[in-house]
Amino acid sequence: MTFPASAPPLSDIRRALVVFAHPDDVDFGAAGTVSRWTEEGIEVTYLVVTRGDAGGFDDRPRETIPKMRENEQRAAAKAVGVSAVEFLDGYADGTLTPSLALRRDIAAAIRRARPDRVLTNSPLRRWDRLAGPSHPDHLAVGEATTCAIYPDARNPFAFPELAAAGLEPWTVREVWYTGGPDPDHAVDITDEFPRKVAALQAHASQTAHMDIEAVIRGRLATVAEAAGLPPGRLAEAFTVLRTQ
Ligand SMILES: [Zn+2]
Repeated sequence: MTFPASAPPLSDIRRALVVFAHPDDVDFGAAGTVSRWTEEGIEVTYLVVTRGDAGGFDDRPRETIPKMRENEQRAAAKAVGVSAVEFLDGYADGTLTPSLALRRDIAAAIRRARPDRVLTNSPLRRWDRLAGPSHPDHLAVGEATTCAIYPDARNPFAFPELAAAGLEPWTVREVWYTGGPDPDHAVDITDEFPRKVAALQAHASQTAHMDIEAVIRGRLATVAEAAGLPPGRLAEAFTVLRTQ
């Protein structure tokens, strides 16, 4: 099972919704690209399913983790021009499945934000890199978000409690997947690199123990080289599909 070749991205995007499992997912995978979008005037909203309560590397009290990671994600969002950051309640880090409840909550967020484009975790596992991109929470969010795009958000008869609450059906036109197998749409983020690094540094509980700038520069250079960009360029890569 794999993705088809990417479609050319739509050029008339006004709003984008970014759905991911944990604080820092968007910043490792896509913050440079999000920074480009906000510079272009696209209105971006983040929807974070968990507060990353199973993350962290030190011995600080576990009950302080969710609020700390929420604050880190809000600061990281600000570094790339995103001020709208929503967190779902009731989902614990490490327990996600593409449940009907999660589909409904993501469909509600789509109907609220009315995005042309959704960026999310890949629902497809990468067998060559089991750790990281293919965390089960990422796969679950990718699958639930895909189901929320079609059919849940656009079908007026899906989750009737949403329409009853005034959330009208909405059709997303394009999805971008990060972290999946064989991404074939590269975005040159060389100019946005400092903002991506700032976003990652905002997640101090996850990144302060490493030289994040060097680690990320190396990864992005490898992606750019694989995409055929000139030497010295940095890139993030995605699969882009039409969903209309
Ligand atoms: Zn994650």
